[in-house]
Amino acid sequence: MDEWIEIERDERHIKRERAKARELRNTPYFRDLFAKGICRYCGQKFPKEELTLDHIVPVARGGRSTKGNMVVCCRSCNQAKKYLTPAEMILRAAEMKENAFQENNNAPHSDGAEQ
Ligand SMILES: [Zn+2]
Repeated sequence: MDEWIEIERDERHIKRERAKARELRNTPYFRDLFAKGICRYCGQKFPKEELTLDHIVPVARGGRSTKGNMVVCCRSCNQAKKYLTPAEMILRAAEMKENAFQENNNAPHSDGAEQ
């Protein structure tokens, strides 16, 4: 799946940035964000165990572990994002909206139960 995405396979980069991410997680800045418990993507509040540290530009796509490239988010948002960059997330959201629009046009009385 997602073959159109080019995944950077620089293992050294990935290892280094993941290690840096673990360090950053223990800084006061991110501890505070974890304590607040607000997911950066969906804006909902979660217990600390449900939160993860996410790279906005994924490490596998060349992203770095810096304060500016990392956000605290819930597990389901992290899962939904995977390897996508912000631009690709916007594209995907637009695509999904368009699909939903077409489905609604084709079946105006659909109860939405089928997928
Ligand atoms: Zn979320």
